[in-house]
Amino acid sequence: MNESASSIVLLSGGMDSCVCASLAARDGHPAALHISYGQRTEDRERESFERICDRLGIQTRLAIRNEALKAIGGSALTDENIAVPESHAIGRDIPVTYVPFRNAHFLAAAVSWAEVLGASKIYIGAVEQDSSGYPDCRPAYYEAYNQVILAGTKEGGIQVVTPLIGMRKAEIVRLGLELNAPFDLTWSCYSREDRACGVCDSCVLRLRAFHEAGAVDPLPYVAVVEKV
Ligand SMILES: [Zn+2]
Repeated sequence: MNESASSIVLLSGGMDSCVCASLAARDGHPAALHISYGQRTEDRERESFERICDRLGIQTRLAIRNEALKAIGGSALTDENIAVPESHAIGRDIPVTYVPFRNAHFLAAAVSWAEVLGASKIYIGAVEQDSSGYPDCRPAYYEAYNQVILAGTKEGGIQVVTPLIGMRKAEIVRLGLELNAPFDLTWSCYSREDRACGVCDSCVLRLRAFHEAGAVDPLPYVAVVEKV
């Protein structure tokens, strides 16, 4: 592994992180970090991570496990006893697919790795609008996190950047198409690994975004619910 990089991109394998990685690759020499945390679709997401890195030419990769989040539970993504809901109420309440304080765990690992690699930027594809309303996707959270990095690292010269945070999902699709982001290799579905379910929050938001962008989602779906 080539141990130098100008930036780190958190790459889950979903469409937003794929566009974010494409931006990072356009603008620098990123390393990619993937974290499995016992989520239902972790094998499929890990496969997407590797294939997206291959396509974007990202050589420096780290795929690690977080054991805490599944052990703690409290989310439909990590607890088989909590069903992944069909998307009926996007934007009303924080849904059961929220994984408690997950992005802080991810960012902490990214900051640790950035210190070792000497990387100065951490890209994360958090989106506030058109999202499920997760509190760790708000701009204020990332501003505060950057203060934590400043106070708690050796040199302090590391910044979390959120280039997609203010974008609509359809704009993210359009940007991805401009950048030739490998949407065909991504995985967004919360509940299935063979074909996307088409009815979970993540599938519905994704399908709506492609529809609004006038583009065709290259992934195979079990069902496409016309609620766009
Ligand atoms: Zn789905």
